[in-house]
This record gives sequence, structure tokens and C-alpha cells, in this order.
Amino acid sequence: MATGLVWDERFAWHDAGLGSTNLWVEPYPALDRPEAKRRLWSLLQASGLAARLAAIRARPATDAELTRFHTTAYVDRVRALAEAGGGDAGESARFGRNGFEIARLAAGGCIAAVEAVLRREVENAYALVRPSGHHAEPDRGRGFCIFANVALAVAHARAWGVERIAVVDWDVHHGNGTQMAFYADPDVLTISLHQDTCYPTDSGTLAERGEGAGLGTNLNIPLPPGSGDGAWRAAVDRVVVPALNAFRPELVVVASGYDAAVNDPLGRMLCHSGTYRAMAAAMLQVARTHCDGRLVVCQEGGYSPTYAPFCGLAVIETLAGETSAVADPMLGWYSALGGQALQPHQAQAIQAAAALLEVPRAA
Ligand SMILES: [Zn+2]
Repeated sequence: MATGLVWDERFAWHDAGLGSTNLWVEPYPALDRPEAKRRLWSLLQASGLAARLAAIRARPATDAELTRFHTTAYVDRVRALAEAGGGDAGESARFGRNGFEIARLAAGGCIAAVEAVLRREVENAYALVRPSGHHAEPDRGRGFCIFANVALAVAHARAWGVERIAVVDWDVHHGNGTQMAFYADPDVLTISLHQDTCYPTDSGTLAERGEGAGLGTNLNIPLPPGSGDGAWRAAVDRVVVPALNAFRPELVVVASGYDAAVNDPLGRMLCHSGTYRAMAAAMLQVARTHCDGRLVVCQEGGYSPTYAPFCGLAVIETLAGETSAVADPMLGWYSALGGQALQPHQAQAIQAAAALLEVPRAA
């Protein structure tokens, strides 16, 4: 069975506005620019891999789908702001005149990917969407995110009768919105690997484990800045995979950002395409063990237009079980950088997260 791919050219038309707007420095576009994702799309075309994937058409998420997580007042506010020419959905989540329609197309793209996997039209799927979603909260956008794409896709799968779903978020920033969506839900396991205290700076700690019936089904793995291939792989092997195996999900959804890559402007990590290839392989293995292969990967951040495309390619090749003729031109250099191996202080941070797996979950 094929791997599905969601892309719509209009994702590249989302306008995140200016990143610097004060009077004293020349205005400059926000770091969430179209190139990083559009260049992944073009790399898929150039490599020939796109032709071997099943195209999944994005559709706009409906108001009813958006309000499974967001408040009606928030959805209406984003719509009205867009009609007025654009604005900010909350905190650093700016958009232009078509921002509402494009944001709900991104959410609907992730929902369409889930539907295609649940219908078994494809074995797994990759939703290459923009804007990203994992920072969006019920009543405000945050950090380039307007609607909570992954949380809404999970809610959709729940509405379709999937009972146990796991989300693994390896964007370098904390998946605060996704965590919030299922914090008290024992049937959705949310795991976020991220740079310790990066963004948002007030969430993503080990202490945030869920609440009520959901206690124990939220797991944060904050990694020290400077963590590289060894640390991220160890975190997946020692914490993420055991947590997934214990939870036994029926569907795995990955929130895949590439901003833990070594040259990303918004993270301070050392990962490379080989790291993402290994993490994707681990998720594929879990999905085949527990979910009949049902795996949906939704793209989040990744702000290097030159390198994020190679990280995305590595993930999509892994999902598809194919290797294109394209070699990552930076892999030799990046993997040889000092500090790539697991360091003692990083192992300590990973062990602290692994220790939480031993704490009994809520009854
Ligand atoms: Zn990010």
C-alpha cells in the first residue's frame, strides 16, 4: 500500500508578515517563510519520489471540526481579521487576507491524511502543511500557528471511532497546544521532545504529566540545548518507544518539525537528516507493531530553507520504504560535528524522563 502526501500550493501563500516591526531596525520577514516547505515539495518532485506517492487532496476544515478544540469566538475572530486584511491570531501568529482559509486548509489537510489512512487508501501519510499548528491554543494562535492541525486531526480520528491514539512531537519547540488538547484524556498519549525551555518558555517540563483521568498520558522530554543525533535517538529509544509500546496505540500521529536540525535559526540543536530518518523508522516500527501500520506525519516547523527539505525527504522516504537517488549533501559534515554523540548531561535528562514511565498512571 502506498504512502500518501498532502500538499497544496496555497500553503506557500500563507503570509506570516514581518518578523521585525520596530522603528529602529529595517523590517524583515518573519522566519516562517514559504521556502522551507515549498522546497521540500520541489525536492520530492525533482527526486521522482512524489510520483510514487499517493496524492491526498487537502480540504478546508469545517467550523464544526475546528471547534472540536478551538472556541467559536476564536474561529470567528480569525475569520473577521482575515476579512479585514489580516492580523495576529494571538502571539506571533500573523496572517494576511487569505489567512483564515489557508489555515483551515492546513488543518483540513491533516484531517484528510488521517481519513485516507483510516480508510486504508494508503498505509501511512505525510501532511506537508503550512501554517504549522502545535502551538495554537483554544482561543489564540501562537508561534506561527493558527489552528491546531495535529490536535484537530486526532480529534477527527476519535470521532471516527479510533479509541487510542499517540502523538509524538519532535519539533524543537514544545507542543503546548497538543498537550493542552488532551491533557485530561486518558486515551490520547501526547509525547513532546523539545529543547528545554525554548518556546514557549513556560511549558514543556517533566512535571506536566496530564491531569485527572489523563494523568500519565502526557510526557515531556526536555533536552538540553546542543543535543545532537545521539541524544535525540537515545530519547526515542529509551523513552518514546517504550512509552508507545506500553500505551499500545491504534494510530500514531507525528508532529514533525525540522527545527532541531543543526542550522535552524530557531533552535539550538545538532540533528541532521539521519536523525530524522532513524526517528521515522522507529515510529514506523511502532505503527506496524500496534496499529497495522497506521501512521500520519504532519509537518510543523523547520525554518532552514536549505536544509529542512533534506530532513523531510528522509522522513518521507522512510514512510514510503524507498530511497530516492538524492543524497543529503550536508550529511557527512553535519554527522561528523563534535557533540553529536550522547553526552552525560543529556543522558541524565533522558533518564529523568524515562523514570516517569515507571510512575503508575491514573487508574
Ligand atoms: Zn518549532
